Amino acid sequence: MLTCKEVSRLVSESLDQRLPFGQRVAMRLHLLMCRACRAYKNRMLLLRKILWLYAAGKGVSSEIKLSEKVRDRIKHLLSQNYPF
Ligand SMILES: [Zn+2]
Repeated sequence: MLTCKEVSRLVSESLDQRLPFGQRVAMRLHLLMCRACRAYKNRMLLLRKILWLYAAGKGVSSEIKLSEKVRDRIKHLLSQNYPF
């Protein structure tokens, strides 16, 4: 069983490249059982989508409705050069 730390690294890597089969299976099993890592993965996917929209010059207002709390957290992460 992978640790949450290992899964967070694999989630980040999986955004950039296809993981080997064994790592994908181990990560998915962990995600099925761990709510915190599922939430982390979903946040990473959301942040990636937001960055793609900004990079494409589309902004996010018409695509995604975010709460004030989530917008503040994203601004905070982006202001810290969050590594992803
Ligand atoms: Zn976990």
